[in-house]
Amino acid sequence: MAKASKRVLPKVFVDRSAIHGEGLFAGESIRKGRRIIEYKGEKVPSGEGTTRSRDDEELTYIFTLNDKYDVDGSVNGNEARFANHCCDGNAWVDIIRNRIWFIAERSIAEGEEITFDYRLQGEELYECVCGAGNCRGYMNDADDELMKKVKTGH
Ligand SMILES: [Zn+2]
Repeated sequence: MAKASKRVLPKVFVDRSAIHGEGLFAGESIRKGRRIIEYKGEKVPSGEGTTRSRDDEELTYIFTLNDKYDVDGSVNGNEARFANHCCDGNAWVDIIRNRIWFIAERSIAEGEEITFDYRLQGEELYECVCGAGNCRGYMNDADDELMKKVKTGH
């Protein structure tokens, strides 16, 4: 009685990015609100993932799922892990039934890079060079404690 309602996802591909390294790109135009891709990877207890990849100077492929778990895109991950941060991203993240989905925040043209605001939290500030007009200068969440210090420090 399985309903054959397998969701058709838009085509995406990985290519060299103007922002950083490789990025995720739209292989077809994607309308606003459409699910783009699931961020796949190994589910690991919170915190474990960050220590795992700390030695890597690249930004990690750790994605916070909830209070208890992260998803490590470097293990059994998919193209979603290549999505770069942009302070003015064209996608946002929704957790649907404990799965991480990128959703189009606006219409995305074929060939356009798919980006989202990482909103990082934690002990470090990560500089941002996304080039957006409203770039915060950091990939950290605007409400992150560290960001507040940056703001008051000026
Ligand atoms: Zn930025």
